[in-house]
Amino acid sequence: MLLECRDVRKVFGGHAVLDGLTLDVAEHEVVALIGASGSGKSTLLRCVNLLAEIDDGTIHLDGEEITDPRADPDLVRRRIGLVFQSYNLFPHMTVLDNITLAPVRVHGRPVEEAREQARQWLDRVGLAEKSGAYPDRLSGGQQQRVAIVRALVNNPRLLLLDEVTSALDPELVGEVLSMIRELKGEGMTMVLATHEMGFARQVADRVAFLDAGRVLEQGPPEQVLGDPVEARTRQFLTRII
Ligand code: ADP
Ligand code: MG
Repeated sequence: MLLECRDVRKVFGGHAVLDGLTLDVAEHEVVALIGASGSGKSTLLRCVNLLAEIDDGTIHLDGEEITDPRADPDLVRRRIGLVFQSYNLFPHMTVLDNITLAPVRVHGRPVEEAREQARQWLDRVGLAEKSGAYPDRLSGGQQQRVAIVRALVNNPRLLLLDEVTSALDPELVGEVLSMIRELKGEGMTMVLATHEMGFARQVADRVAFLDAGRVLEQGPPEQVLGDPVEARTRQFLTRII
């Protein structure tokens, strides 16, 4: 397993947002997290990226316990890319500088190496000619694709995507989804929180339904989305479709 979350517990203000959550992700696997708003999807992704500290349980990446207090969060985050719903690009920096800022400043990568890698990624996703542009010259879909490139430039082992299409106008969703589909084709391991059930069905190897901070049900998309075992999964799917 590339990622192993065991009995993960995260408490906010006395409320267990993650309540004994267990989830494994194999290398090259794409897992879609679905569930009602507040079920803990974003919190889980933030805990895996060590942006939030768990209160109990363990998270292993490549067999190493990253939730061990001795683990170096910067090194862990180099191996795990996280992209949010809002792309958070710096408006006063070019696309290329947005992408290379963290690798250079945080991870100490040589500037030219980071820039070269960023250019290669931009080329692969069809944004090569935008490298010197400022974010406000880009469409929302292009900005989100740049944000994904920014998460890829350290060659992470795992990519976490948190509702990356929800802030986009409907006509811009497709270009981001097709980029994710391409990354899957290249074998990228991904965990994506989404409420795009059609996309989850197409791209995910496995769908995990979160309910009250646990994985209540998981399995192949056609099973979980088409013929769920749990009444709560069925209720959720009826409400959103
Ligand atoms: P989802 O992404 O599935 O909608 P979240 O993980 O964002 O769910 O939130 C789960 C619960 O945790 C919500 O009730 C939310 O209010 C709470 N929560 C998330 N982050 C914080 C925080 N930093 N402080 C307090 N409560 C939080
Ligand atoms: Mg969320």
